[in-house]
Amino acid sequence: MYREHTKVIQIGDRKIGGGNPVLIQSMTNTRTEDVEATVRQILALEAAGCEIIRCTVPTQEAAEAIREIKKQIHIPLVADIHFDYKMAIAAMENGADKIRINPGNIGGAEKIKAVVDVAKARKIPIRVGVNSGSLEKELVEKYHGVTAQGLVESALDKVKIIEDLGYDNLVISIKSSDVMMCVKAHELLAEQTNYPLHVGITEAGTVYSGNIKSAVGLGIILYEGIGDTIRVSLTGDPLEEIKSAKRILKTLNLRKGGVEVVSCPTCGRTKIDLIGLANQVETMVQEFPLDIKVAVMGCVVNGPGEAKEADIGIAGGKGEGLLIKKGEIVKKVPEDQLLEVLREELSNWK
Ligand code: SF4
Repeated sequence: MYREHTKVIQIGDRKIGGGNPVLIQSMTNTRTEDVEATVRQILALEAAGCEIIRCTVPTQEAAEAIREIKKQIHIPLVADIHFDYKMAIAAMENGADKIRINPGNIGGAEKIKAVVDVAKARKIPIRVGVNSGSLEKELVEKYHGVTAQGLVESALDKVKIIEDLGYDNLVISIKSSDVMMCVKAHELLAEQTNYPLHVGITEAGTVYSGNIKSAVGLGIILYEGIGDTIRVSLTGDPLEEIKSAKRILKTLNLRKGGVEVVSCPTCGRTKIDLIGLANQVETMVQEFPLDIKVAVMGCVVNGPGEAKEADIGIAGGKGEGLLIKKGEIVKKVPEDQLLEVLREELSNWK
């Protein structure tokens, strides 16, 4: 298991690597300069379960906003920098807990050294990020295109630049929107480094296709024991990223806790609005910090059996449903009261 053996890196008050739990990251899509909007979004993401947040820092004003934002949030903040090394330095001086740079695009050895010197003095970790979209020309030529090998070589070259400056407080990320290239690159990288890896499928797409690509890509990579932090990248509300990341970790048994809803696909036997009910139940259960399974089943054929497997469940009938708790049928409930009765049961769950 690679993640048991990665280097432990401290980001604000959280530790990653060395077998610590895989943490969920997201990135704000507000203007970082707009402190109020950015804080509002980060607090909502925190409440949903985000554990590390990244904000872009493209201007001096954004770097200064970091100081104010940090006062109002409770999770570590990563400053994302491209092109201008001065922004990386300003972000650190204003309290960023980690910076994410691509040493290939911040302009030469002197500038990289200036950034590393500040990181070193302040013990701030650097995430070295490479992306398939910006792979160096020489590596594209050497490997006849953008390849997993090229991505890994690019990342390790960048890491070496920083190591040669005497700094190893590092995290690596390599991203590609090609899921299987991303998987291959992580397999190769995990063999060659023990720095913690931040894993994500970049430019994965909309909520629908991004979720599927991320679930497949992150699922394989995490299952192989690789990855210390993750981000599900979606073209959508960042809150969706957190929901999906939590679901991926829970499905892989890398997270405990939270109510799991199982529901049947419905068929010709279904006599209640089960699709509507299952969706409402899935939203409703998020209020409850319970570690239980709730079954929402359409009929009495498989329903009672599945519902008995769960801690609590419903098996639909005609305009009504059976409420089943810890294997026992408790009562019949009219269809329009099923959601409320379930909510009531979870509120009083012992
Ligand atoms: S539980 Fe009943 S309604 Fe749901 S798919 Fe199975 S047979 Fe159909």
